[in-house]
Amino acid sequence: MSALLETRDLSKFFGGLYATNGVSLAIEAGEVRCLIGPNGAGKSTLFKLIIGTYQPSGGQVFFDGHDITPLESHRRVNQGLSIKFQVPGIFLELGVEQNLRIALQRKVAPARMNDETERLLAFLDLAPSRHLAAGNLSHGQQQWLEIGMAIALQPKLLLLDEPTAGMSPEETFKTGELVKRLNADGMTIVVIEHDMTFVRQIARKVTVLHFGKVFLEGTLDQVVNNDDVARIYLGKE
Ligand code: ADP
Ligand code: MG
Repeated sequence: MSALLETRDLSKFFGGLYATNGVSLAIEAGEVRCLIGPNGAGKSTLFKLIIGTYQPSGGQVFFDGHDITPLESHRRVNQGLSIKFQVPGIFLELGVEQNLRIALQRKVAPARMNDETERLLAFLDLAPSRHLAAGNLSHGQQQWLEIGMAIALQPKLLLLDEPTAGMSPEETFKTGELVKRLNADGMTIVVIEHDMTFVRQIARKVTVLHFGKVFLEGTLDQVVNNDDVARIYLGKE
């Protein structure tokens, strides 16, 4: 069986430096995969190549059996890809509910709009804050709203770039449960994350990026017990 997402020898060159350097990665349908690696390893750039923010300097991206490399971002989203970027893209001055409706209207028929909005507000535990401006939410709630906008597009594959950044341990745990529920409902998810407790909560398989390349792939235990991985995090190379 072919993977839901596959990158083949994917590279991105920025003025003299490879942010992504020949990454070949396969994500099977139904997986929750975590992507880890030191700052500057090329994790966010890899996501931007997958979603189409950047065109690669070389290599290809396959999604659901199709070569999507030439497609613009919005066409990729129409095919079932969605992303929560590292820097949240919610509309801070608009209400929580309005934000969700803006995202939902891309996929949901008007007759089903109210039901879907309620379902999403409940899922994100944001119903009590529905009328607040998004800018007045806590940092953690803003991340959940952004995740909500990404899942409003009903993707087959969801990319989450550091969803728990700045969250308390309780918020982080809640985010992990959210990810697990989405996955149980059939969504394939790739998460960039630093928090190893969170990674243990959600993922079976972990990919380590370093200097734009896949450094190691394995179970979380294989990765955390690997001396070379410890070394790259300590910067002793
Ligand atoms: P990570 O998300 O793993 O921290 P990034 O993908 O953001 O890493 O960045 C990888 C490398 O590429 C870094 O050295 C970064 O400075 C560089 N980089 C990322 N985006 C750009 C850009 N738009 N222009 C130039 N260099 C970039
Ligand atoms: Mg990043």
